[in-house]
Amino acid sequence: MRPLKLFIIYLFTYLLDNIEELEEPRPRRKLFADQTEWQRNKMKVQRIHGKSYIGFHKEGNRNVQGPIRNERTMKATCNSSYCKKSKLRHCNIFNESGRLSIFEHLWKCTWEEKKTFCINMVSKNEKKRASETLEDLSH
Ligand SMILES: [Zn+2]
Repeated sequence: MRPLKLFIIYLFTYLLDNIEELEEPRPRRKLFADQTEWQRNKMKVQRIHGKSYIGFHKEGNRNVQGPIRNERTMKATCNSSYCKKSKLRHCNIFNESGRLSIFEHLWKCTWEEKKTFCINMVSKNEKKRASETLEDLSH
């Protein structure tokens, strides 16, 4: 397999593991005091880039600060014996510096950039029969 394809597979695996992070935050209805708003925005940016942040949540009508979330760190490389035997998984083709550069690149992006990047990296391969059917329909 070509390195680009493998990179995409790796990235997708990573994103699927972190899929909840790609969800759009729900819009807020109420405006808050300037300082709180500033703090929240700052934390929002921190979270986007994988830095340590404090979450906010509602308790009744009050906004309450949540626990401090730790900075994102690169996890250890896959060490599964199943993956080592598999011809379809390619967990071990990336060296540590490669993994680190992907990790750093990804966390520099905004959520939207992360999504766009993935979408642009994917090429669709229609099944032959399916594309023939589509062509037949268009004639
Ligand atoms: Zn693996």
